[in-house]
Amino acid sequence: MAFEGLSERLQSTIQKIKGKGKVTEADVKQMMREVRLALIEADVNLKVVKDFVKRVSERAVGAEVMKSLTPGQQVIKIVKDELTELMGGEHSQIKFNPKPPTVIMMVGLQGAGKTTTSGKLANLLRKKYNRKPLLVAADVYRPAAIKQLETLGKQLAIPVFSLGTDVSPVKIAEEAIEHAKKEHYDVVIIDTAGRLHIDEELMDELKNIRAIKEPDEVFLVVDAMTGQDAVNVAQSFNEAIGITGVILTKLDGDTRGGAALSIRAVTEKPIKFVGMGEKMDALEPFHPERMASRILG
Ligand code: GDP
Repeated sequence: MAFEGLSERLQSTIQKIKGKGKVTEADVKQMMREVRLALIEADVNLKVVKDFVKRVSERAVGAEVMKSLTPGQQVIKIVKDELTELMGGEHSQIKFNPKPPTVIMMVGLQGAGKTTTSGKLANLLRKKYNRKPLLVAADVYRPAAIKQLETLGKQLAIPVFSLGTDVSPVKIAEEAIEHAKKEHYDVVIIDTAGRLHIDEELMDELKNIRAIKEPDEVFLVVDAMTGQDAVNVAQSFNEAIGITGVILTKLDGDTRGGAALSIRAVTEKPIKFVGMGEKMDALEPFHPERMASRILG
């Protein structure tokens, strides 16, 4: 299960301070030493850990906690609040264009789950948001990727716009948006090419697609299992093309949690959805507070 190690360690740390009628600075220090180690072991970015520990420590030794009747509980609440903040605070909604179609660009490295997530997102938009989505196959370098999206589309009964592999992704995106306008699709989800590594060519292509019509959302799909690599990928994509949000996949696996806890603080971009499995309904909106509660038990 995701976050298992982190969750266990934080819970045992919390247990020690929970019922205390008096919390001293030494108690807080001891606790934060343990929290720090737990976060590092969960592969959370080091600077993020440092800032987190500093914020919690400052608040935990504050007068309001020390004077409170249940200081142990107060400290735990502070940890929970700060964990929630770390993951973005509020749940971040999709930004729909008041003048449809809303254009969502899906970007990411190969294997992260981009194509699968495009299908899942279309499915979610139709089911939960009552939208009429159009999927667009713009990965012209891999016929298999186009085929994969078409198969998902068929399975979901959601149309997939494709012009094969001989047309440029920019042209495909352009025509897809025109098609959506004509046929009254209100969300266009463009599945762009992924590569094994970040390279300039990929970024240039994504920038060119972006340039046709400013997308309402640029979602970066990253694999939670890759920990700090996912965070570095997010930072690179954000710097190169500017993303509006992150979709973290494979959170159903036994990821330690580093990506989920670091991405927002490092990139300042919210995690919008999480992938919880391979099936088409396994995509969930990301709620930082619920995630913090789950971690702290
Ligand atoms: P792409 O190369 O980024 O388009 O990646 P794919 O969409 O082809 O996905 C790569 C693999 O990851 C596939 O086997 C997917 O079924 C799997 N996958 C994607 N998202 C999730 C998820 O949230 N959980 C799990 N367990 N597997 C996922």
